[in-house]
Amino acid sequence: GRNAYCFFEPSMNQGAHQQLAMIQDLRRALSLAQFSLHYQPKMIAPSGPLEGVEALLRWHHPEHGTVMPDRFIPLAEKTGLIIEIGRWVINEACRQLMAWREAGHTVPSISVNLSPAQFRSPGLPAKIEDALTRYGVPPSSLVLEITESTAMQDSDTSLAILQRLASLGVRISIDDFGTGYSSLLYLKRLPASELKIDRAFVRDLVPGGEDAAIVSAIIALGRTLNLSVIAEGVETESQQRLLTELGCTSLQGYHLGRPVAADDAAARF
Ligand code: C2E
Ligand code: CA
Ligand code: CA
Ligand code: CA
Repeated sequence: GRNAYCFFEPSMNQGAHQQLAMIQDLRRALSLAQFSLHYQPKMIAPSGPLEGVEALLRWHHPEHGTVMPDRFIPLAEKTGLIIEIGRWVINEACRQLMAWREAGHTVPSISVNLSPAQFRSPGLPAKIEDALTRYGVPPSSLVLEITESTAMQDSDTSLAILQRLASLGVRISIDDFGTGYSSLLYLKRLPASELKIDRAFVRDLVPGGEDAAIVSAIIALGRTLNLSVIAEGVETESQQRLLTELGCTSLQGYHLGRPVAADDAAARF
């Protein structure tokens, strides 16, 4: 059409077509206001109070319904769209936090996930600073979650970025911890305030098992390095009990609360 053309490869499988269509839709999703954030409680064990909430992105596609982040974040990452989408997430999370506080709700902090490309984009600190100022968010109320593998990749550069972010007064959480092979030396230098134990260690947790030993070791590490430790993916009462016994003071997972829209979050947590 017009002056544009594209090649059609008969061998292109349906998956590739679907992916292209999805990328096109993703490009328009921001301007069509198709994104929203859901919020999941991070609880101070065992039954509260609320330590904060984690913002989780949802894409409301006109034909496919709600698309989960695992399906579109990798595409957004690959195409660079994550930079603008991520900026929207930070702004929206900051706006929502202050809206809750204005309404009299106690929400101590809000956590936002950063993808690797977003984490490495030079404009990130300025965008975060801008969001904090615009909505009047106290910096320590914003938590940035980056995965251990993102933090480990090109570790000198990552450390410099983390130091720059931490200098804004925001807090850093190392997500999916235990899967990324951090050296202890590196961990010691990280300006983080939280380790989030990966779901993989919680899933099959039993007393006396290997995962319990790993969880204990991470908790001990957190104590030594003065980092708070939270477990994610807590789905059952027995996981919750065992984690608490092992000394894990903060918990997150379906058992404590599923991710829900902002209105439901205000009512429930
Ligand atoms: P994550 O940061 O590890 O987030 C936790 C994921 O586990 C969420 O999936 C959450 O809904 C899910 N979850 C929470 N509790 C439980 C539980 O008890 N059991 C199980 N099986 N799952 C639980 P979700 O919302 O589909 O997000 C998936 C991933 O997408 C996130 O993993 C995060 O890496 C990424 N993501 C989500 N929102 C954003 C965002 O705004 N920006 C970026 N860059 N990534 C995001
Ligand atoms: Ca996370
Ligand atoms: Ca995680
Ligand atoms: Ca994960």
